[in-house]
Amino acid sequence: MTKVVTTSRDPVCGMDIVVAQSTLFSTHRGIVYHFCSAQCLERFNDIPELYTGSQRIADIRPIRKRRKLRLAEGSESEIRRACQRVGDMMGVSKAATENGCLLVEYDLRQTILSQIEAVASAEGLKFNEGFHGIRRRLWKYLEAGELENAAHPSSGACCNRPPVKLR
Ligand SMILES: [Zn+2]
Repeated sequence: MTKVVTTSRDPVCGMDIVVAQSTLFSTHRGIVYHFCSAQCLERFNDIPELYTGSQRIADIRPIRKRRKLRLAEGSESEIRRACQRVGDMMGVSKAATENGCLLVEYDLRQTILSQIEAVASAEGLKFNEGFHGIRRRLWKYLEAGELENAAHPSSGACCNRPPVKLR
């Protein structure tokens, strides 16, 4: 006898989720979506339009980002642990330290700077404030705008949309 396992595709990361075992889900316009992690669920709930619609689910294209975050504090072991935790996040392709900075590469569709900061802070890392703090806030603001534009490409706000660079 063949057992039929119903799976559903996590619209954020593309992973197949076994519906019967799923504990993380969200309903958008009458459709139930299942998620692999709280991180993916949070991304979806922030901006469901980015991940819904048949063409979006079929065509998951990454929006690559690369940031250098200056650290103010953190012991060797905290930095190592934070790097590992950030590296394990969905959508993060690289997390490394270099000269007191946390270098991170990620797909903006799957995670955003504020989620990365939260994970690193939970491991005891503190980031530089001052000018670097202002810059990080600007990045977060720009990320929100970029996702908004990606979710609503026909809204007419395309003239200030930066080109997506693949690095
Ligand atoms: Zn996921």
